[in-house]
Amino acid sequence: MKRNFLKASLVGLAVVLVGIAPLAYAQDKGLIAISMPTKSSARWIADGANMVKYFKDKGYKTDLQYADDDIPNQLAQIENMVTKGSKVLVIAAIDGTTLSDVLQKAADKGVKVIAYDRLIKGSKNVDYYATFDNFQVGVLQAQSIEKALDLKGGKGPFNIELFGGSPDDNNAFFFYNGAMSVLDPYIKSGKLVVRSKQMGMDKVGTLRWDGAVAQARMDNLLSAYYTKDRVDAVLSPYDGLSIGILSSLKGVGYGSASQPMPIVSGQDAEVPSVKSILRKEQTSTVFKDTRELAKVTVAMVDAMLSGKTPEVNDTKTYNNGIKVVPSYLLKPVSVDASNWKVVLIDSGYYKESQVK
Ligand code: BGC
Repeated sequence: MKRNFLKASLVGLAVVLVGIAPLAYAQDKGLIAISMPTKSSARWIADGANMVKYFKDKGYKTDLQYADDDIPNQLAQIENMVTKGSKVLVIAAIDGTTLSDVLQKAADKGVKVIAYDRLIKGSKNVDYYATFDNFQVGVLQAQSIEKALDLKGGKGPFNIELFGGSPDDNNAFFFYNGAMSVLDPYIKSGKLVVRSKQMGMDKVGTLRWDGAVAQARMDNLLSAYYTKDRVDAVLSPYDGLSIGILSSLKGVGYGSASQPMPIVSGQDAEVPSVKSILRKEQTSTVFKDTRELAKVTVAMVDAMLSGKTPEVNDTKTYNNGIKVVPSYLLKPVSVDASNWKVVLIDSGYYKESQVK
Protein backbone atom coordinates (compact mmCIF):
# COMPACT_ATOMS: atom_id res chain seq x y z
CA MET A 1 0.00 0.00 0.00
CA LYS A 2 2.72 2.38 1.14
CA ARG A 3 4.87 1.32 -1.82
CA ASN A 4 2.06 1.91 -4.28
CA PHE A 5 1.51 5.34 -2.82
CA LEU A 6 5.22 6.13 -3.15
CA LYS A 7 5.25 4.87 -6.71
CA ALA A 8 2.21 6.97 -7.62
CA SER A 9 3.76 10.02 -6.01
CA LEU A 10 6.99 9.57 -7.93
CA VAL A 11 5.14 9.16 -11.19
CA GLY A 12 3.14 12.26 -10.32
CA LEU A 13 6.29 14.20 -9.54
CA ALA A 14 7.90 13.07 -12.79
CA VAL A 15 4.84 14.21 -14.75
CA VAL A 16 4.97 17.59 -13.03
CA LEU A 17 8.71 17.93 -13.66
CA VAL A 18 8.42 16.96 -17.33
CA GLY A 19 5.49 19.37 -17.57
CA ILE A 20 7.33 22.36 -16.14
CA ALA A 21 10.79 21.64 -17.46
CA PRO A 22 10.33 23.19 -20.93
CA LEU A 23 8.68 26.20 -19.33
CA ALA A 24 11.51 26.78 -16.88
CA TYR A 25 14.01 26.25 -19.72
CA ALA A 26 12.12 28.66 -21.94
CA GLN A 27 12.24 31.33 -19.27
CA ASP A 28 15.94 30.85 -18.67
CA LYS A 29 17.38 31.87 -22.02
CA GLY A 30 16.78 35.59 -21.59
CA LEU A 31 15.47 38.62 -23.40
CA ILE A 32 16.40 39.57 -26.99
CA ALA A 33 15.62 43.07 -28.23
CA ILE A 34 14.56 43.62 -31.84
CA SER A 35 14.60 47.21 -33.12
CA MET A 36 12.92 47.64 -36.51
CA PRO A 37 12.73 50.88 -38.53
CA THR A 38 9.11 51.17 -39.61
CA LYS A 39 5.82 49.43 -40.16
CA SER A 40 5.20 51.39 -43.37
CA SER A 41 6.71 48.56 -45.41
CA ALA A 42 5.39 45.00 -45.14
CA ARG A 43 8.82 43.42 -45.13
CA TRP A 44 9.80 44.86 -41.73
CA ILE A 45 6.55 43.62 -40.22
CA ALA A 46 7.33 40.15 -41.54
CA ASP A 47 10.96 40.38 -40.34
CA GLY A 48 9.82 41.26 -36.81
CA ALA A 49 7.10 38.61 -36.65
CA ASN A 50 9.40 35.89 -38.00
CA MET A 51 12.14 36.66 -35.50
CA VAL A 52 9.73 36.70 -32.56
CA LYS A 53 8.48 33.27 -33.61
CA TYR A 54 11.92 31.69 -34.11
CA PHE A 55 13.35 33.20 -30.91
CA LYS A 56 10.37 31.84 -28.99
CA ASP A 57 10.91 28.39 -30.52
CA LYS A 58 14.45 28.47 -29.14
CA GLY A 59 13.32 29.54 -25.68
CA TYR A 60 13.99 33.29 -25.76
CA LYS A 61 11.72 36.15 -24.84
CA THR A 62 11.62 39.13 -27.21
CA ASP A 63 11.07 42.86 -27.05
CA LEU A 64 10.09 44.00 -30.56
CA GLN A 65 9.83 47.74 -31.26
CA TYR A 66 9.16 49.77 -34.42
CA ALA A 67 10.49 53.33 -34.63
CA ASP A 68 8.21 54.98 -37.22
CA ASP A 69 11.27 55.93 -39.31
CA ASP A 70 12.15 58.49 -36.64
CA ILE A 71 15.81 58.48 -35.56
CA PRO A 72 15.39 59.90 -32.00
CA ASN A 73 12.57 57.42 -31.49
CA GLN A 74 14.80 54.48 -32.45
CA LEU A 75 17.58 55.75 -30.16
CA ALA A 76 15.18 56.06 -27.21
CA GLN A 77 13.79 52.59 -27.87
CA ILE A 78 17.28 51.05 -27.97
CA GLU A 79 18.34 52.83 -24.74
CA ASN A 80 15.26 51.42 -23.11
CA MET A 81 16.03 47.93 -24.39
CA VAL A 82 19.50 48.12 -22.83
CA THR A 83 18.01 49.30 -19.52
CA LYS A 84 15.50 46.44 -19.53
CA GLY A 85 18.36 43.93 -19.53
CA SER A 86 18.30 42.57 -23.08
CA LYS A 87 21.20 40.23 -23.78
CA VAL A 88 21.40 40.99 -27.48
CA LEU A 89 20.21 43.89 -29.63
CA VAL A 90 19.10 43.01 -33.16
CA ILE A 91 18.90 46.31 -35.03
CA ALA A 92 17.73 47.35 -38.49
CA ALA A 93 18.87 50.97 -38.31
CA ILE A 94 16.97 53.91 -39.80
CA ASP A 95 20.20 55.85 -40.15
CA GLY A 96 23.18 53.53 -39.87
CA THR A 97 25.47 56.24 -38.53
CA THR A 98 23.54 57.48 -35.50
CA LEU A 99 23.86 54.64 -33.01
CA SER A 100 27.47 54.84 -31.75
CA ASP A 101 26.71 56.31 -28.29
CA VAL A 102 23.89 53.97 -27.39
CA LEU A 103 25.89 50.98 -28.65
CA GLN A 104 28.80 51.99 -26.41
CA LYS A 105 26.41 51.98 -23.44
CA ALA A 106 25.22 48.54 -24.53
CA ALA A 107 28.78 47.24 -24.87
CA ASP A 108 29.66 48.55 -21.39
CA LYS A 109 26.91 46.30 -20.06
CA GLY A 110 28.09 43.32 -22.11
CA VAL A 111 25.16 43.46 -24.52
CA LYS A 112 25.91 41.99 -27.97
CA VAL A 113 24.77 43.63 -31.20
CA ILE A 114 23.66 42.25 -34.54
CA ALA A 115 23.12 44.57 -37.49
CA TYR A 116 20.01 43.25 -39.18
CA ASP A 117 19.72 43.73 -42.96
CA ARG A 118 21.28 47.24 -42.78
CA LEU A 119 24.89 47.80 -41.71
CA ILE A 120 25.48 49.88 -38.56
CA LYS A 121 28.32 52.28 -39.31
CA GLY A 122 30.96 54.10 -37.28
CA SER A 123 30.89 51.80 -34.25
CA LYS A 124 33.21 49.03 -33.10
CA ASN A 125 30.35 47.59 -31.07
CA VAL A 126 28.71 45.63 -33.86
CA ASP A 127 29.36 41.91 -33.49
CA TYR A 128 27.77 40.44 -36.61
CA TYR A 129 25.77 41.42 -39.68
CA ALA A 130 22.96 39.32 -41.17
CA THR A 131 21.77 40.46 -44.59
CA PHE A 132 21.31 39.61 -48.25
CA ASP A 133 23.90 40.07 -50.96
CA ASN A 134 23.00 43.72 -51.44
CA PHE A 135 25.25 44.33 -54.46
CA GLN A 136 23.59 41.37 -56.16
CA VAL A 137 20.15 42.92 -55.47
CA GLY A 138 21.18 45.87 -57.66
CA VAL A 139 22.65 43.54 -60.29
CA LEU A 140 19.33 41.66 -60.48
CA GLN A 141 17.34 44.90 -60.79
CA ALA A 142 19.50 46.08 -63.66
CA GLN A 143 19.56 42.67 -65.34
CA SER A 144 15.76 42.69 -65.50
CA ILE A 145 16.01 45.97 -67.43
CA GLU A 146 18.83 44.62 -69.60
CA LYS A 147 16.74 41.56 -70.45
CA ALA A 148 13.42 43.36 -71.06
CA LEU A 149 15.05 45.87 -73.43
CA ASP A 150 17.22 43.17 -75.06
CA LEU A 151 20.32 45.28 -74.53
CA LYS A 152 22.52 42.22 -74.87
CA GLY A 153 21.01 41.70 -78.31
CA GLY A 154 22.26 45.16 -79.27
CA LYS A 155 18.86 46.95 -79.15
CA GLY A 156 18.67 50.65 -78.35
CA PRO A 157 19.21 53.47 -77.75
CA PHE A 158 16.66 53.66 -74.92
CA ASN A 159 15.93 56.39 -72.39
CA ILE A 160 16.33 55.47 -68.74
CA GLU A 161 16.00 57.32 -65.43
CA LEU A 162 17.64 56.20 -62.20
CA PHE A 163 16.37 56.16 -58.63
CA GLY A 164 18.36 55.35 -55.51
CA GLY A 165 17.36 54.43 -51.97
CA SER A 166 17.84 56.44 -48.79
CA PRO A 167 21.34 57.95 -48.56
CA ASP A 168 21.51 57.20 -44.81
CA ASP A 169 21.09 53.48 -45.51
CA ASN A 170 24.33 51.75 -46.50
CA ASN A 171 22.34 49.25 -48.55
CA ALA A 172 21.20 51.98 -50.92
CA PHE A 173 24.79 52.41 -52.17
CA PHE A 174 25.24 48.67 -52.67
CA PHE A 175 21.98 48.46 -54.63
CA TYR A 176 22.94 51.44 -56.78
CA ASN A 177 26.51 50.26 -57.40
CA GLY A 178 25.32 46.74 -58.21
CA ALA A 179 22.82 48.11 -60.72
CA MET A 180 25.35 50.47 -62.28
CA SER A 181 27.84 47.63 -62.72
CA VAL A 182 25.37 46.31 -65.32
CA LEU A 183 23.97 49.60 -66.71
CA ASP A 184 27.10 51.74 -66.92
CA PRO A 185 28.61 50.04 -70.00
CA TYR A 186 25.33 50.63 -71.91
CA ILE A 187 25.25 54.27 -70.76
CA LYS A 188 28.85 54.69 -71.90
CA SER A 189 28.15 53.09 -75.30
CA GLY A 190 25.03 55.24 -75.79
CA LYS A 191 22.55 52.33 -75.79
CA LEU A 192 21.05 53.77 -72.61
CA VAL A 193 20.54 57.52 -72.33
CA VAL A 194 19.83 59.32 -69.05
CA ARG A 195 18.17 62.44 -70.45
CA SER A 196 18.10 64.24 -67.11
CA LYS A 197 21.82 63.46 -66.65
CA GLN A 198 20.93 62.79 -62.99
CA MET A 199 23.31 60.06 -61.95
CA GLY A 200 25.09 59.15 -58.70
CA MET A 201 23.53 58.59 -55.28
CA ASP A 202 23.89 62.30 -54.40
CA LYS A 203 21.48 63.12 -57.26
CA VAL A 204 19.15 60.10 -57.34
CA GLY A 205 18.83 59.15 -53.63
CA THR A 206 15.36 59.08 -52.04
CA LEU A 207 15.39 60.03 -48.36
CA ARG A 208 13.70 57.46 -46.05
CA TRP A 209 12.72 55.36 -49.06
CA ASP A 210 9.63 57.55 -49.39
CA GLY A 211 7.35 56.64 -52.32
CA ALA A 212 5.80 60.13 -52.39
CA VAL A 213 9.26 61.68 -52.81
CA ALA A 214 9.99 59.32 -55.72
CA GLN A 215 6.61 60.11 -57.29
CA ALA A 216 7.29 63.87 -57.08
CA ARG A 217 10.75 63.45 -58.60
CA MET A 218 9.33 61.32 -61.44
CA ASP A 219 6.68 64.02 -62.08
CA ASN A 220 9.48 66.56 -62.43
CA LEU A 221 11.58 64.35 -64.69
CA LEU A 222 8.64 63.65 -66.99
CA SER A 223 7.68 67.28 -67.36
CA ALA A 224 11.26 68.50 -67.77
CA TYR A 225 12.69 65.85 -70.11
CA TYR A 226 9.97 63.65 -71.57
CA THR A 227 7.30 65.79 -73.14
CA LYS A 228 8.40 64.71 -76.63
CA ASP A 229 10.46 61.58 -75.99
CA ARG A 230 9.41 58.50 -74.14
CA VAL A 231 11.10 57.08 -71.06
CA ASP A 232 11.76 53.39 -71.71
CA ALA A 233 13.03 52.22 -68.33
CA VAL A 234 13.23 53.31 -64.71
CA LEU A 235 15.68 51.80 -62.26
CA SER A 236 13.83 51.67 -58.94
CA PRO A 237 15.50 50.07 -55.91
CA TYR A 238 12.38 49.35 -53.84
CA ASP A 239 8.73 48.44 -54.49
CA GLY A 240 7.42 51.37 -52.41
CA LEU A 241 9.26 53.74 -54.78
CA SER A 242 8.19 51.78 -57.87
CA ILE A 243 4.52 52.22 -56.95
CA GLY A 244 5.03 56.02 -56.67
CA ILE A 245 6.93 56.09 -59.97
CA LEU A 246 4.18 54.07 -61.68
CA SER A 247 1.47 56.48 -60.46
CA SER A 248 3.44 59.36 -61.87
CA LEU A 249 3.79 57.56 -65.22
CA LYS A 250 0.06 56.74 -65.30
CA GLY A 251 -0.66 60.40 -64.60
CA VAL A 252 0.81 61.37 -67.98
CA GLY A 253 -0.74 58.52 -69.94
CA TYR A 254 1.73 55.62 -69.77
CA GLY A 255 0.17 52.20 -69.42
CA SER A 256 -2.00 52.18 -72.54
CA ALA A 257 -1.63 50.27 -75.82
CA SER A 258 -0.27 53.33 -77.60
CA GLN A 259 1.99 54.34 -74.73
CA PRO A 260 3.11 51.20 -72.88
CA MET A 261 4.64 51.36 -69.42
CA PRO A 262 8.41 51.63 -69.31
CA ILE A 263 10.37 48.79 -67.71
CA VAL A 264 10.31 49.39 -63.94
CA SER A 265 12.28 47.37 -61.39
CA GLY A 266 11.72 46.99 -57.63
CA GLN A 267 12.59 45.11 -54.47
CA ASP A 268 10.92 43.19 -51.62
CA ALA A 269 8.09 41.48 -53.54
CA GLU A 270 5.51 43.53 -51.66
CA VAL A 271 1.91 42.58 -52.36
CA PRO A 272 0.95 45.77 -54.27
CA SER A 273 3.99 45.28 -56.52
CA VAL A 274 3.31 41.61 -57.15
CA LYS A 275 -0.22 42.63 -58.14
CA SER A 276 1.24 45.34 -60.34
CA ILE A 277 3.53 42.78 -62.03
CA LEU A 278 0.50 40.58 -62.71
CA ARG A 279 -1.26 43.61 -64.28
CA LYS A 280 1.85 44.07 -66.47
CA GLU A 281 2.68 47.47 -64.97
CA GLN A 282 5.78 46.92 -62.78
CA THR A 283 8.23 44.63 -64.59
CA SER A 284 10.14 42.94 -61.79
CA THR A 285 10.97 42.89 -58.13
CA VAL A 286 13.62 41.20 -55.99
CA PHE A 287 12.46 38.69 -53.41
CA LYS A 288 14.38 38.49 -50.16
CA ASP A 289 13.00 35.72 -47.98
CA THR A 290 12.65 37.37 -44.57
CA ARG A 291 11.99 33.94 -43.02
CA GLU A 292 15.53 32.91 -43.92
CA LEU A 293 17.06 36.17 -42.66
CA ALA A 294 15.21 35.75 -39.38
CA LYS A 295 16.47 32.15 -39.07
CA VAL A 296 20.07 33.13 -39.73
CA THR A 297 19.83 35.92 -37.15
CA VAL A 298 18.29 33.74 -34.48
CA ALA A 299 20.98 31.11 -35.07
CA MET A 300 23.67 33.82 -34.72
CA VAL A 301 22.23 35.01 -31.43
CA ASP A 302 21.83 31.49 -30.08
CA ALA A 303 25.42 30.62 -31.03
CA MET A 304 26.79 33.79 -29.40
CA LEU A 305 24.90 33.18 -26.18
CA SER A 306 25.99 29.53 -26.06
CA GLY A 307 29.65 30.48 -26.34
CA LYS A 308 29.88 29.24 -29.94
CA THR A 309 31.03 31.13 -33.03
CA PRO A 310 28.16 32.11 -35.33
CA GLU A 311 28.37 30.94 -38.93
CA VAL A 312 29.34 33.67 -41.41
CA ASN A 313 30.07 33.54 -45.14
CA ASP A 314 31.61 36.96 -45.76
CA THR A 315 34.44 38.63 -43.86
CA LYS A 316 35.52 41.19 -46.44
CA THR A 317 32.68 43.24 -47.87
CA TYR A 318 31.08 45.18 -45.04
CA ASN A 319 33.51 47.69 -43.59
CA ASN A 320 31.56 50.03 -41.30
CA GLY A 321 34.32 52.65 -41.17
CA ILE A 322 35.82 51.20 -37.98
CA LYS A 323 35.98 47.50 -38.73
CA VAL A 324 34.88 44.84 -41.18
CA VAL A 325 31.77 43.30 -39.67
CA PRO A 326 31.60 39.50 -40.12
CA SER A 327 28.50 38.86 -42.18
CA TYR A 328 26.12 36.21 -43.38
CA LEU A 329 24.77 37.05 -46.84
CA LEU A 330 21.66 35.38 -48.20
CA LYS A 331 20.81 35.15 -51.90
CA PRO A 332 18.20 37.50 -53.37
CA VAL A 333 15.97 36.19 -56.18
CA SER A 334 14.65 38.15 -59.16
CA VAL A 335 10.88 37.85 -59.65
CA ASP A 336 8.78 38.72 -62.69
CA ALA A 337 5.65 37.52 -64.47
CA SER A 338 7.42 34.30 -65.47
CA ASN A 339 8.40 32.94 -62.04
CA TRP A 340 6.30 34.68 -59.35
CA LYS A 341 4.25 31.57 -58.68
CA VAL A 342 7.18 29.25 -58.10
CA VAL A 343 9.14 31.75 -56.01
CA LEU A 344 6.40 33.38 -53.95
CA ILE A 345 3.50 30.94 -53.80
CA ASP A 346 5.07 27.48 -53.98
CA SER A 347 7.55 28.54 -51.30
CA GLY A 348 4.61 29.35 -49.01
CA TYR A 349 5.62 33.02 -48.67
CA TYR A 350 2.23 34.22 -49.92
CA LYS A 351 -1.10 32.56 -50.62
CA GLU A 352 -2.23 33.02 -54.20
CA SER A 353 -5.40 34.76 -52.98
CA GLN A 354 -3.24 37.50 -51.41
CA VAL A 355 -1.76 38.63 -54.70
CA LYS A 356 -4.64 38.05 -57.16
C1 BGC B 1 16.26 46.97 -47.36
C2 BGC B 1 15.29 46.78 -48.48
C3 BGC B 1 14.13 47.73 -48.35
C4 BGC B 1 14.58 49.14 -48.04
C5 BGC B 1 13.41 50.03 -47.72
C6 BGC B 1 16.65 48.39 -47.27
O1 BGC B 1 17.59 48.58 -46.27
O2 BGC B 1 17.38 46.15 -47.56
O3 BGC B 1 14.81 45.45 -48.48
O4 BGC B 1 13.43 47.76 -49.56
O5 BGC B 1 15.49 49.15 -46.99
O6 BGC B 1 12.73 49.58 -46.59
